[in-house]
Amino acid sequence: MDPAADEYPEHVRVVVIGGGPGGTACALALNRLSAEMGRQAHITLLEGKQFKGERHYNQCVGVLAPPLPDLLENQLKVPFPHHLCLMEIDGYVLHSNDQEIFLGGADENSFALRRVQFDEYMLDAVIQCGIPMSSARAVDLEFHNDGVTVYTDSSSLEADVVVGAFGLDEGSASMFARTTAYRPPHALSSIVTKYVSNPGSEVDFGTHIHAFLPSHPKIEFGAITPKCTHLTINIAGKAVDADLMITFLNHPEVQAVLSNFEHAGAMDSEQPPLFKGRFPSSLAHHYYGDRYVMVGDAAGLVRAFKGKGATTAVLTGIRAAETIMGHGFSERAFHDYFLPANHEIIEDLPYGRIMRLAAIYLSRLGYMDAVIRAARQSPEIRSALYDAVSAHALYKDIMKSSLNRKSILAVIQAISQKYT
Ligand SMILES: Cc1cc2nc3c(=O)[nH]c(=O)nc-3n(C[C@H](O)[C@H](O)[C@H](O)COP(=O)(O)OP(=O)(O)OC[C@H]3O[C@@H](n4cnc5c(N)ncnc54)[C@H](O)[C@@H]3O)c2cc1C
Repeated sequence: MDPAADEYPEHVRVVVIGGGPGGTACALALNRLSAEMGRQAHITLLEGKQFKGERHYNQCVGVLAPPLPDLLENQLKVPFPHHLCLMEIDGYVLHSNDQEIFLGGADENSFALRRVQFDEYMLDAVIQCGIPMSSARAVDLEFHNDGVTVYTDSSSLEADVVVGAFGLDEGSASMFARTTAYRPPHALSSIVTKYVSNPGSEVDFGTHIHAFLPSHPKIEFGAITPKCTHLTINIAGKAVDADLMITFLNHPEVQAVLSNFEHAGAMDSEQPPLFKGRFPSSLAHHYYGDRYVMVGDAAGLVRAFKGKGATTAVLTGIRAAETIMGHGFSERAFHDYFLPANHEIIEDLPYGRIMRLAAIYLSRLGYMDAVIRAARQSPEIRSALYDAVSAHALYKDIMKSSLNRKSILAVIQAISQKYT
């Protein structure tokens, strides 16, 4: 890379590819920082989907977790869209094969809304700030010594630096993999469906998310989330499909929660409406380099195992903007500033992986029932389960606080009761 580009240019041209939470947050943060620092930033945001009129969607259950309201209001100066929130989520019911436990207790609740409306709101905030937004897809890139050419499906743009905020879009990942050393993260697949209350029965589903750790070898977890007018149900695993969703829906524990509800598909169809999405399950390789940086899902910069995906995408989008405006856009600048800024997320990934494997094996061996029984007696295990399910604490801290002699003995005791 031209060494001059490593210095602070007075005028920086940034193309942000993707208008989900990571891309919009990055564009808004670049705009705010350029005004605060008195430096010119010419930002263009590309988004290939149309959220207005709900023509396209990004797959998501739509639960926005703290500190998202704080990030929006204090860092991006965008009011949190309370008017879009359908309800506040104030706890979880964790289900194993034949046990369940209520987990609650955070100071700050999460908010359930329709993700398509949140995406539209964030894109509108970008447009209102006067940031040029193009409804086009980036289809190719060329990296030169003095800049990057971004080809879209309608024109081309010149940039000093490109922000990859394209989520797990495979076409965009191969575009970067062709032109840089970037390799996308591994991913889990997820199937989503929607249920509504049976005609004539006005059922209040409550304000808790039901989280399931079934013993089925191909389903890592499932969840039923109340959305005021309906329930959103999702399952995740290495390769979940429509048949596995039906298996999950027919599980007696799930049926018990879904009594009084029916799928929201066509009346004459047995099959519920199904949607498919993916979660990153590892860090991407080379997610930054000279003149490019990835944020959110594209970087795999999300909490391992249990999401907060939208919140983390916003956070990493802001951090990428801070690096570009404060330190430049060479590989060294990203290495010295973007990497350490995300240290907490990256350092926690191996702990998340261990917790994920522990949850998988405890469930498959039928020991999750014992963990839940032990949690009823032990506030420490209960709080560790809450922190893991809600993603309100780092996995490293959860393991530190729960892996002690007392908790391990409580679980062993509960397991041995199963055999006596
Ligand atoms: C089933 C499911 C449920 C989930 N539920 C939740 C939840 O309840 N809460 C939560 O916080 N997270 C949830 N997540 C995770 C969350 O959706 C992601 O972590 C988050 O959206 C990542 O944001 P992002 O900006 O990195 O990418 P995305 O939100 O994926 O946005 C990427 C955007 O880039 C656009 N794009 C891609 N390629 C191009 C291109 N070449 N040119 C132009 N535009 C392009 C796409 O159209 C898209 O709008 C869920 C994920 C799944 C799969």
